[in-house]
Amino acid sequence: MQILTSLEKTHSLCLQWKKDGESIVLVPTMGYYHKGHEKLFAVARELGSKLAISLFVNPAQFGPGEDLENYPRDFQADCVKAERCGADLLFAPSPQEMYAEDHQAWVDVPQLARGLCGRSRPLHFRGVCTVLMKLFMIMLPDIAVFGQKDWQQQAIVRRMARDLNLPVRIVSVPTQREADGLALSSRNVYLNAEERKQAPGIYAGLGRARNAVSKGERDAGALIESVLSFWREALPLGEIDYLAVVDPETLADVDRIEGSALMACAVRVGKARLIDNIVLTEK
Ligand code: AMP
Repeated sequence: MQILTSLEKTHSLCLQWKKDGESIVLVPTMGYYHKGHEKLFAVARELGSKLAISLFVNPAQFGPGEDLENYPRDFQADCVKAERCGADLLFAPSPQEMYAEDHQAWVDVPQLARGLCGRSRPLHFRGVCTVLMKLFMIMLPDIAVFGQKDWQQQAIVRRMARDLNLPVRIVSVPTQREADGLALSSRNVYLNAEERKQAPGIYAGLGRARNAVSKGERDAGALIESVLSFWREALPLGEIDYLAVVDPETLADVDRIEGSALMACAVRVGKARLIDNIVLTEK
């Protein structure tokens, strides 16, 4: 596995791979790898001949007062895990390498970025889209792989790729979880013992909505209320940022479950802001 920090060297290598007829599969990450990342790497490994991983804690997607400085990092351990997963390239640039001091071009998908996480993180997805566009131009992937834990992110990236005719296929991988249901996240490390004990309640609450749908409930407001009442009991340390039922593709609010809908949430537990989601289907 090659570990590169230079944008130019990375681009040359990927360009050479393309000339040689290789297919490049990219997994963009911010590091501090867990089994969720490793699942993406395993899926990506099977989809093409070269597995390229980017590791970059992207300042442009963090707002003021968010955890950019404290975001967990362990570069050595990440290199070992990436190599073990069969990566051919780990691209780990510095912020200076990625952004000129007077950078001013942005990629935005404003309507999809407005709701859900966008309500409390208004510039987050503009930062995500911009860095992904840069990574796509540098690394020339045929396929890019994303996790469904960040459902809004993969929906926005799909729309960006469609609207801008990017020659990149977007693949999404189901959320990987701890045995108790907590979605794996680099940010779980922020949880203290009591917070960690309550955190699985997030997914348990979403599971209540899924059960209610299977018993015939179709009203989004009623589903939301049943999850909130569960959380009041099971997750007293949780501070709810949002809980919404939306169209899985357009992310517009829905009042009734028809076909399938996405129930998505962000909950602050101590210092961690945890996101999760579940697809609700009529059948
Ligand atoms: P991050 O390093 O947190 O930016 O995540 C990099 C990629 O891994 C994103 O596409 C995430 O959606 C994905 N990811 C993170 N956690 C999980 C998980 N628990 N299950 C599946 N994918 C995940």
